[in-house]
Amino acid sequence: MAILRSSMVGTKPTLVWVCLITMTFPRRRMNGSIVLFGPPGAGKGTQATRIVDLTSKPQVSTGDMLRQAVSLGSELGLAAKVFMEAGELVPDEVIIGLIAERLKGNDASGGVLFDGYPRTIAQAEELASIAEVSAVISIEVPDQSIIERIVGRRMDPETGAIYHTKFNPAPESISGRLIQRKDDNESTVRTRLSAYHEQTSPLAGWYENQGLLIRINGDQSIEDVGDEIISHLSS
Ligand code: AMP
Repeated sequence: MAILRSSMVGTKPTLVWVCLITMTFPRRRMNGSIVLFGPPGAGKGTQATRIVDLTSKPQVSTGDMLRQAVSLGSELGLAAKVFMEAGELVPDEVIIGLIAERLKGNDASGGVLFDGYPRTIAQAEELASIAEVSAVISIEVPDQSIIERIVGRRMDPETGAIYHTKFNPAPESISGRLIQRKDDNESTVRTRLSAYHEQTSPLAGWYENQGLLIRINGDQSIEDVGDEIISHLSS
């Protein structure tokens, strides 16, 4: 403490208190698992990278897990494919089993970063019974921006990098190999948004009642959204 005091000579008293409090109390919002919550195309996957860097928690994306199962042609993949291509939610039993299996991994013992899960109250109730959630980051973006974002989204199949025809065009040298996700067309996006409003958005109130919800304005630059998230998680 003496060393601390001498190294802080000349520093504003309030700043000293902030440093002391931050060093004394663990950052409770990062103790357990963190949920990234928001409509499709809100930027959950993009922001996940920064949260993983900050917390070292593994990212668990049910969308990525399901797409992998579909491309492997597994039984689970075959069952999920029809729902995904229609823009509908995959049944809760399938998702709950998938997550229960994933949380058995050694890397999940200190909590994980959920991306796109839970998406229904039943999934959230199940999650509460198997893991501790310490923060829910809700990235909020109006529907019209979502449609524009998703319909222009393209992926480089060689690197996994995500581009946008208008907001983040790919270099010409690779533009020919970019692909569009099957469910990224306007009609499916509208179905995905309806599923979000009907089945997923009620979860915001559910988590808000538990004091876990952190609302983030997702309709700003990627960097500003990330800065807002990091400052909440670090506070
Ligand atoms: P995403 O990449 O997160 O937008 O997910 C793509 C699709 O996978 C969704 O439109 C759903 O069909 C399905 N999906 C992903 N996560 C879930 C979940 N937690 N519950 C139900 N369906 C899911």
